[in-house]
Amino acid sequence: MTPVEKIRLISGTSPQWCSMENNGFWNTIGDLAFPRWCAGCGAWDEDLCPDCQQRFTGPWCRVDDRAPYLQMIRPVGGGRLGLLRPGDPVSLFPVFALADYDDVVRKVIVSWKNTVNRGLTKTLVRTVTRCATSIEWDGGAVSIVPAPSRFRRRHDGRFVAGHLARALGAGIDAAVNERRGRAGDVQISVARYRDVLATATISFAGVRGYPRTENSFLGGRGIKGRGIRVRRPAGGGRAILVDDVLTSGATLAGCARALKECDVEVVAAFVLGAALDPRRRRMQQTGNEMGRS
Ligand SMILES: [Zn+2]
Repeated sequence: MTPVEKIRLISGTSPQWCSMENNGFWNTIGDLAFPRWCAGCGAWDEDLCPDCQQRFTGPWCRVDDRAPYLQMIRPVGGGRLGLLRPGDPVSLFPVFALADYDDVVRKVIVSWKNTVNRGLTKTLVRTVTRCATSIEWDGGAVSIVPAPSRFRRRHDGRFVAGHLARALGAGIDAAVNERRGRAGDVQISVARYRDVLATATISFAGVRGYPRTENSFLGGRGIKGRGIRVRRPAGGGRAILVDDVLTSGATLAGCARALKECDVEVVAAFVLGAALDPRRRRMQQTGNEMGRS
């Protein structure tokens, strides 16, 4: 905090606080009125400290093999691609993440989703935009589509997937312009932000009644992806999906299915954090239980 340079009391009137040399006083008051601390580690006076920010600077890692809902088994006669054979699992589309969804990354994302924090939004948007310039896009038109969020979050600045989608689009556009650039001053925009997906509230009603048995290692997560629909007709083309966290892949799979009904093909997805494969988590739990008995 900036120390106050000079405080003067003017006699005869009501006490006034004055800073003669600079506006440090008002900065101090600002800090007192709106205390800030790092969303990841709690360090004082920063929205996201450099160490925690470092966690989101990439490079992008491919993570779709962690998400069971994004895997399908290659059918017999399904063509040949490298070393893939019938029976091998293949992903619906590649998914890239900037970080593992560990303790710090989880705290930052949960905080971003649940508080209106313009400073944190600005920092993370800037970081993701910079990371997105490393994405080599072919230069054709593409829609950047955020995974849907609940109504309230959308309308008070906590639409995290929306912020991320705009950041990714800006980064992709910047990279395309950089590659094509210097020929002219015309800025090319190939990545168009399209907020077209919605969650149907009716699908959440079904979650309560969903049978959660001990054996269901996905814990009913598939339900979440089923209520996703396209709000406005998207009208074909290619799309890149954006979400904050990848867990089972049910949400992204639901988004891709809804878009496919409008002839939009999802070519890739980008997320901030990727959780460990739920199947592996289940195996670890079982292992621990067996170790104890
Ligand atoms: Zn921190």
